[in-house]
Amino acid sequence: MNLADLLLRQALLQPDGAAVFEGTRLHATHADWAARAAGLAQRLRAAGLAPGERLVIFMRNHPRYLELLWGAWWAGLVVVPVNAKLHPAEVEWIVADAEARWGFVSADVAPRALAGLERQVDIDSREADALLAPADFHAVPIAERAADDTAWLFYTSGTTGRPKGVMITQRNLMTMGLAYFSDVDPVAATDTMCYAAPMSHGCGLYAIPHLMAGARHVVPASGGVDAAELFALGRALGPLSTFAAPTIVRRLVDHAEAAGLTPAEAASAWKTIVYGGAPMYVADMQRALRVMGPRFVQIYGQGETPMTATALSRAHIADSAHPRHAERLGSVGVAQTPVRVRVADEHDRPLPPGEIGEVLVQGDSVMAGYWRNPEATAAALRGGWLHTGDIGTLDAEGFLTLKDRSKDLVISGGSNIYPREVEEVLLTAPGVAEVAVVGVPDPEWGESLVACVVAAPGAPQDAAALDAHCLAHIARFKRPKRYVWLDALPKNAYGKVLKTALREQLRGTPATPVPPSTPAG
Ligand code: AMP
Repeated sequence: MNLADLLLRQALLQPDGAAVFEGTRLHATHADWAARAAGLAQRLRAAGLAPGERLVIFMRNHPRYLELLWGAWWAGLVVVPVNAKLHPAEVEWIVADAEARWGFVSADVAPRALAGLERQVDIDSREADALLAPADFHAVPIAERAADDTAWLFYTSGTTGRPKGVMITQRNLMTMGLAYFSDVDPVAATDTMCYAAPMSHGCGLYAIPHLMAGARHVVPASGGVDAAELFALGRALGPLSTFAAPTIVRRLVDHAEAAGLTPAEAASAWKTIVYGGAPMYVADMQRALRVMGPRFVQIYGQGETPMTATALSRAHIADSAHPRHAERLGSVGVAQTPVRVRVADEHDRPLPPGEIGEVLVQGDSVMAGYWRNPEATAAALRGGWLHTGDIGTLDAEGFLTLKDRSKDLVISGGSNIYPREVEEVLLTAPGVAEVAVVGVPDPEWGESLVACVVAAPGAPQDAAALDAHCLAHIARFKRPKRYVWLDALPKNAYGKVLKTALREQLRGTPATPVPPSTPAG
């Protein structure tokens, strides 16, 4: 089994079919893409890189990203995709851990030579042109790979400790690709997948189902997320599909709203927006639906089961007449076709619907293990189930609602408080643009809740009003004891709020306690 066969198949079926765009400019047909991938594979082989060796990609989104991925797989190599926002020293740690010999970089993210690499190739250089020069793809054999061979060695974004290399196999990625059709969205050859989010992460992996379907791929000319550019690109190339973290979805919705677009006009730019990677608040999705119409699908996954744990379908998201619509929007949907999902107690015993425990996943999308780390592998995969570290609950129909990462759970006065629940409520208060709730040490309560609020433009900083809003919606003990207003929330490269950084930041930030007229407790 080799993912490179997906490219060969399309190159034979539709050699002249437009495959990759950079902005509105055609970068490659399917035959061009296969010829460059085959050329690269031939040269990697000639340079002595044997199947199974690691190749690092540390660059911004670039149309050549796809050629590198498929060229590496054609040669049987393992791709190590590195987040473009990492510090070079962090990348050097990954290079050493993965024992990668070659790296492809873009000069903007890797301005200097990375220690440990035998060869570092700037993607915009003549050297890269030569390595990617087309070869006769019929004549370059695709390396033999077993289904359980690693294809993608993904370093977890872990906010604490050293990242771990997650071994994602050929089978894992094939499974993820097929589950896209069954659980996310059918794809036509005329569709266009847009890479605005980092290609080093889940967004880049969505190249696989789109190549399976012979669709088109576009990397925005700016290489990033500019809402106006993306809407214009969608109107020019035909409606786009993309994957975006909730913060990016919000930016797209803000743009559509500010531009006064109708949902029908939004539909001319966007076919499908898949979101995930971090909580999407119910109020945000209700607004997104109002402004842009039914073009959203949610997925829940993690590096260890990429993009493939649960999905909340377009139909479920759009079914606003359903009596439990809001609850469903607050969930991450149901188990995707190739996996089983359960919620278990601390002894791994499955819990009945409604009870809260750790989310476990089993199936063909689940990693082979952590690279050279048998202890961590045994712990994460004990009993044959992936232990996600996420806390959640299943309902009687199989919808999974995530509470929080176990480490974000706050225990105050002996009661468990899931910050997500408090965040959902605060987001419905007037004047709150964004919010993150964290626990901080408290001599009396063990931990107490602090709400970090980004105010909507011009909105007052009114702790008493927010407290009254919480009192009207949730149990008294769940109310934040303090409010802090920030210009922005700290986020990682994928738009996830960094709660560890936030807790650290809070140590030095003055907070507004809730006024004494509404005693905290
Ligand atoms: P990563 O391994 O960096 O992709 O992070 C995966 C983690 O992101 C998961 O374990 C969840 O905690 C979180 N996550 C992923 N998808 C969702 C989602 N749809 N809703 C809420 N949290 C999510």
